Amino acid sequence: MDYRDLGVTPVVSAQANSTPLGGCTLSDGVIAAMGSAARSHVDMDELWRAAGEFLAVVTGAADACPVTGAAAGMAIAVAACVAGTDPLRVRQLPDPGDRPNEVVLQKGHSISYGGAPITQMIALGGGRTVEVGAVNETLPSHVAGAITARTAALVYVTSTTHAIHRRGVPLTELVAIGRTHGVPVIVDAAGESDLRAWVAAGADLVIYSGPKMLGAPTSGFICGSAGLVAACRAQYLGIARPMKVGKENLMGLLQAVREYTDVPEAERSAAQHARMAALAARLGELPGLSARVTQDESGRPIHRVTLTVDPAAAGLGAAELAAAMTAGDPAIHLRDFKLHLGVLEVDPRALSTDGEEAVVRRLAELLPERGAARTVAGAAR
Ligand SMILES: *Cc1c(COP(=O)(O)O)cnc(C)c1O
Repeated sequence: MDYRDLGVTPVVSAQANSTPLGGCTLSDGVIAAMGSAARSHVDMDELWRAAGEFLAVVTGAADACPVTGAAAGMAIAVAACVAGTDPLRVRQLPDPGDRPNEVVLQKGHSISYGGAPITQMIALGGGRTVEVGAVNETLPSHVAGAITARTAALVYVTSTTHAIHRRGVPLTELVAIGRTHGVPVIVDAAGESDLRAWVAAGADLVIYSGPKMLGAPTSGFICGSAGLVAACRAQYLGIARPMKVGKENLMGLLQAVREYTDVPEAERSAAQHARMAALAARLGELPGLSARVTQDESGRPIHRVTLTVDPAAAGLGAAELAAAMTAGDPAIHLRDFKLHLGVLEVDPRALSTDGEEAVVRRLAELLPERGAARTVAGAAR
């Protein structure tokens, strides 16, 4: 069966690997690994431990535990900090019983992922979020002052598109505070490109999403200290049971991570830059658009085409253009994080060559000919 059998038409994602558009497309190698995994049985405990060892080598952590995604990872990481490996406590969650369960979170990190708040994932793991500071300013003293005998963990969100980092407590300081008080630090590094930096910075548990940067199917992993990762695995006999990772997705994740780490970052980045520069040259020809290649605002090695829409010359604004792109066949979703600035972006990560052609074709259809625009302007005068 395919999408069209159900009357569902595939869409073009120029907004990267977002969950609402189905995560990411997979390489042939990843698809093959998943197919091969699907053909035989394994002892899942053995597979999980081996997967943990593989991911530990890649991340520089002591151990790692697969998860279905970063949101599940947050619930499981918190559960690990609240219940540990004690089977009775694991079974009792999300009721923490008499265990410390407060999770200290900077207000600027109290994000939601497409609607589901991080605080809900923390609650699912038995935690109770204690937000500190203000949305636009949190001091180390706010965090330290909120730590009590009831504190189970500190949570940090790396994403600069979701969380607010200006005047926040940086991870190095949060780790130092955690160490002083003997409280573990959980890092949500869902879409990060660097698989080692956050572990190296001293975080106790670091959570990655499989589809965001790594080219993996719906999946993710938590890496960190041996004791806490063992406690993460223990949650699969508790709250993590409805979030279990199948063997196919797990092998797909590992193959994707292998392919990701096999290509040096500079090489991947240069290829992406060249591809986007060629696309920008084509799109910049269209009336009402200026196109240039820009690097990811948080410094990740992602290069996008940034399109600035001039409504007078284009005959429509950025919001109308984005809406017209999604209304077409195929629907094309541009990255709209900067829509309020009149800017749209083409993100290469989920965009096939065919998808790229569809973007060019559809934009050319929607924007008037250069000559036509001038004629209209001339007629108005
Ligand atoms: C996407 C995202 C998540 C959720 O990741 P899933 O793998 O889809 O569960 C969590 N945190 C951040 C910062 C994200 O960007």
